[in-house]
Amino acid sequence: MASFIQLNMLPQLNNSDFLRFTDKIRVADGCWEWQTPGDPKHYPKFKISKGKMVDAHRLSYQLFKGAIAPGQYICHHCDNRRCTNPEHLFAGTPKDNAIDAYQKGRMTPPNSRKLSEFQVAQIKKALRESKTHAAIALEFGVCRSTISNIAQARNWRGVG
Ligand SMILES: [Zn+2]
Repeated sequence: MASFIQLNMLPQLNNSDFLRFTDKIRVADGCWEWQTPGDPKHYPKFKISKGKMVDAHRLSYQLFKGAIAPGQYICHHCDNRRCTNPEHLFAGTPKDNAIDAYQKGRMTPPNSRKLSEFQVAQIKKALRESKTHAAIALEFGVCRSTISNIAQARNWRGVG
């Protein structure tokens, strides 16, 4: 039996969805900033008419670059979470993101990117101090989604 990777398939958009999506894009300094009200700490979300809410940047990646493998984050080269420019997006694990940050000279070399309980406690402390998710992600060399998950207590509930 052939083995294959189950990809997160392209969401089914109709024409009006596509127009609604592209209508919200404003180009600014090369970024395709997606205009929507809402908490700037969170990735903007788009409601597909047939169903679910999706992250705008993930949708853009799927539309312009292709399917996303399970467990992959869509990260920003430009560190602008409202940006949906596919050229600024890349799929990766938190480790890939850390290596990317390192190559751009933003941080010290990645060692083990599996967060220790101590690091998670430090991240929670930084969150309580109202540091931005982006700043914390850079500091710890992980994707911002990881920080969001910790902030929303989806992971590491018992720590810190
Ligand atoms: Zn950008």
